[in-house]
Amino acid sequence: MDVQERLQEVKTRIETAERQAGREAGAVTLVAVSKTFEADAIRPVIAAGQRVFGENRVQEAQGKWPGLKAETPEIELHLIGPLQSNKTADAVALFDVIETVDREKIARAIAEEMGRQGRRPRLYIQVNTGLEPQKAGIAPDDVVAFAGLCRDELGLDIEGLMCIPPAEENPGPHFALLAMLAVECGVERLSMGMSGDFEAAIAFGATSVRVGSAIFGTR
Ligand SMILES: *Cc1c(COP(=O)(O)O)cnc(C)c1O
Repeated sequence: MDVQERLQEVKTRIETAERQAGREAGAVTLVAVSKTFEADAIRPVIAAGQRVFGENRVQEAQGKWPGLKAETPEIELHLIGPLQSNKTADAVALFDVIETVDREKIARAIAEEMGRQGRRPRLYIQVNTGLEPQKAGIAPDDVVAFAGLCRDELGLDIEGLMCIPPAEENPGPHFALLAMLAVECGVERLSMGMSGDFEAAIAFGATSVRVGSAIFGTR
């Protein structure tokens, strides 16, 4: 299968999972994760109609996306990897959605940059549902307070929550926890599910899934 056939297969699997979960057709947005792949490998996916993409490094994204966005202006680019504060200005300038708001310092830096640039990327809070020490994200117990701080003190509009469950665990309980926390925070969107588990995430209410290798191949 080539990359366009793999994209089509992922889209078909998403549609099937939506139907099986009793969700509306089109309820789930596919974020095609193009990290490590060059612009030339991404263009066929854009040509096949895909418009939403995810990258995990600011610097890598800066190397390929300004050009690709100039070719196809309606592209929506998501940052799905950790954001360092010295990269905040670049991230706010390039990304349309930042899914990895994971600490107060970065939330403050994003708020300042939005004011400075007059650009307002949509924002998700990353939640460390497995409390993994090596993983970024707000602890589940602290998410409601952190969302309140972002909204009330920093004036940030939080659109949803994002998580990356521990690799070796059944992801279902993590997806369920994220969905429950979103209700507590009063946010509507859930970014959860990757190549290995996006159908399960859709069953638990994902509104977007981040799929890389199932489309682009192994990295
Ligand atoms: C790489 C990555 C993905 C995509 O992973 P695949 O298993 O290739 O689908 C999703 N989310 C995040 C945060 C990633 O870094």
